[in-house]
Amino acid sequence: MMTTLRNLPSVEQLLQTETTARLIAQFGRSLTLDALRHTLDEVRARFKLNPEVGLPSIDLILAEAESTLTAWTVSTLHPVINATGVILHTNLGRAPLSHATIHAMDVVSRGYSNLEFDLETGKRGSRLIHAEALLQKLTGAEAALVVNNCASAVLLTLSALANKKRVVIARSQLVEIGGGFRVPDVMKQSGAKLVEVGTTNKVRVSDYTTEFEESTALVMRAHRSNFKIVGFTEEPDFKDIVEAAHKAGIPVVDDLGSGALYDTAKYGFSHEPTVQESMQAGADVILFSGDKLLGGPQAGIIIGKKEFLDKIKKHPLARAVRADKACLAGLSATLTHYLKDEAEREIPIVRMMSLTLEQVRGRAEAWRDELGQGDVVQGESTVGGGSLPDESIPTYLLELNVKSADKFLRALRKNNPPIIARTENDKVLLDPRTVFPEQEGALLVGLKNLLKI
Ligand SMILES: *Cc1c(COP(=O)(O)O)cnc(C)c1O
Repeated sequence: MMTTLRNLPSVEQLLQTETTARLIAQFGRSLTLDALRHTLDEVRARFKLNPEVGLPSIDLILAEAESTLTAWTVSTLHPVINATGVILHTNLGRAPLSHATIHAMDVVSRGYSNLEFDLETGKRGSRLIHAEALLQKLTGAEAALVVNNCASAVLLTLSALANKKRVVIARSQLVEIGGGFRVPDVMKQSGAKLVEVGTTNKVRVSDYTTEFEESTALVMRAHRSNFKIVGFTEEPDFKDIVEAAHKAGIPVVDDLGSGALYDTAKYGFSHEPTVQESMQAGADVILFSGDKLLGGPQAGIIIGKKEFLDKIKKHPLARAVRADKACLAGLSATLTHYLKDEAEREIPIVRMMSLTLEQVRGRAEAWRDELGQGDVVQGESTVGGGSLPDESIPTYLLELNVKSADKFLRALRKNNPPIIARTENDKVLLDPRTVFPEQEGALLVGLKNLLKI
């Protein structure tokens, strides 16, 4: 008997099977029906193209439908093991969160909260208060506002304080942060008029003051987060710029980007400007990220003088870029670690930076011993994530000699969970600094499978 498409089972027939009953329980009826029809269409199309291969069995059709259902419902976003040694890897989700931060986000997301409800009066409250007191206490700022990210903090601040007005900034600070976020473009978007001063490599206080003659809304500093200017360079102390601006009655906005609350030099990196230093220099409004060196959830933090924060809070864009309850809860928990002086113990990225060389070497050696191959070699870990350009601290790496490093890296990415490593001189390098101890089991199983141990 010749096989024709008439031999193909109908959806109704497939629905009679136990497998389909199981799929319906797992994926829901309408999605399962969708997948069955989709699979039958695929089978029909393949058969028309290539009749001699015949028709698949019912079991094979159902297996194909199940793969389709899995593909349709599996999350595209899932955890990976970061063995690159890049502590704040923007492509790998920046800062992993502390237990207390995750707990706070979990608790507030599970049910209702007093997000905008005043428990004292029983009336409407403001979400703006939630991280504000902590930020005031930590930085000494008069007021604070939390928004979606630092990019929106820049856009909002400029829109609220400098729309159709002049903003003076050094040419050497007209930076592109990444992902197409360029300071001059954001200024344009906010309606501010960019006034560049100085040259690419040199700027003096007098370059600024010359531009103060006409009415100017703001002086801005943008931190060069991802590059360095070296050689024949000059830039005044931020304090001196602030002083000159204030003398002319002009407020100063400082876009710190990373905005550390601690001194990164303590961990062997060079010194990244801190929020406290910017406060001390007299900046009127300071902007920084929640998920860079702070080590918290994605957020943009705006702190500073009340008169400016009031204007920023009232701007219509503030509503468009506001932080959600999980962010506010998580950020508060992360900030509390700083208040309690326990950042090094509790905040993963600070802990990773503070690991001693001996600790990292011990773990690399344990991996080597477990695998029975590879060499423990000296290398470098970096911060990444638009912080501390070109900076690294010494680390120990497990170096694997494989046939093709690129192919091995690709196979590691296909592991479940994916393992992200790096290569150098056609060798595979794994840095224990950014691998959580609880991920080591999965990492070693993945490596053993690939190395066929
Ligand atoms: C990273 C960075 C931003 C953007 O911060 P996000 O939180 O990623 O939006 C803005 N300005 C500077 C100077 C930065 O380094």
